[in-house]
Amino acid sequence: MAATQIPEVVLESSNGRRTMPVLGFGTAADNFQPEVFIAAVLEAIKLGYRHFDTAAEYGSEQSLGEAIAQALKLGLVGSRDDLFVTSKLWPNDAHPHLVIPALKKSLQNLQLEYLDLYLIHWPISAPPGKLMHSIAEKDLMPMDFKGVWADMEEAQRLGLTKSIGVSNFSSKKIEDLLSFATIPPSVDQVEMSPFWQQKKLRDFCKANGMVVTAFSPLGAIGTRCGTNSILESKVLKEIAEARGKTVAQVCIRWVYQVGATLAVKSYNKERLKQNAQVFDWELSQEDLDKISQIPQHKLVLREEYVSANGPYKSLEDLWDGEL
Ligand code: NAP
Repeated sequence: MAATQIPEVVLESSNGRRTMPVLGFGTAADNFQPEVFIAAVLEAIKLGYRHFDTAAEYGSEQSLGEAIAQALKLGLVGSRDDLFVTSKLWPNDAHPHLVIPALKKSLQNLQLEYLDLYLIHWPISAPPGKLMHSIAEKDLMPMDFKGVWADMEEAQRLGLTKSIGVSNFSSKKIEDLLSFATIPPSVDQVEMSPFWQQKKLRDFCKANGMVVTAFSPLGAIGTRCGTNSILESKVLKEIAEARGKTVAQVCIRWVYQVGATLAVKSYNKERLKQNAQVFDWELSQEDLDKISQIPQHKLVLREEYVSANGPYKSLEDLWDGEL
């Protein structure tokens, strides 16, 4: 089978003209198994995936680096420049003067000389030192946004990353950041799916030349904090049946068609293939109208998520948007 050609979007405010493939391979997983993961990355590259979404917190950087090294050795891609790699700064490192060392550690894990995109993972900080996977309420600290963003800008100027951005930022938080940024963020990566459509944030980002990247577009189904409700939605099933597609494809196509990009996680060859087959058909205006009527429920920070991930509740106080 010929590899799928995945469309790209231009990232503004980057180091030179940079484009990002709209469909990224998500690397966050429960029970991370390096061999399964590496085989999935190699399969994904054969299928046409070029964008890989990792983070210091996922524990996937080293295996992704290993998979990229193998892909280059096998000639699956001509050079590292043919790939787009995103990583993220975790709250324990979200302090001025810790950003560049954290980014260098990610590069070392990935065996790369530069990232394509580096994101602030959450708009909060936590005590510097060891990476805490779940951050206790007592450890949440407001971020020094000016100091941290100045270091993110420096990382881009130094060429350690080609573009910089944020994740889990509301429009209000981005607005604050834009008031002092000399390099505006290129991307905001947030939860987004037909069940949490982020219309306000999407409009805000569009008006400010930023790209929105959707995470958990399938509701993180099958994971410890995910939900089946999106892939089991009656409305989405009806649309999928009428189009001869799967509900997952409808979700992915919807994100793309409303102008956002996305990271989807699958380590399964058939589902990787299916998820990329969304660029040669479209949803009708009637489909889009039906999807826009779906009642909205966020996944992140809903009760089950909080109990599975620790006492995150006061994050709500640090956020102020519709995330
Ligand atoms: P997701 O992509 O919505 O869902 C992943 C789940 O869906 C996996 O269990 C996968 O299982 C299953 N799946 C994939 N394709 C499918 C299909 N066609 N049909 C049925 N099931 C399918 O959730 P996610 O992993 O939470 O989000 C994607 C990526 O976004 C992450 O991996 C990560 O890179 C990023 N992310 C970022 C943040 C952030 O704070 N910035 C937060 C969460 C996630 P199989 O592997 O078995 O196919």
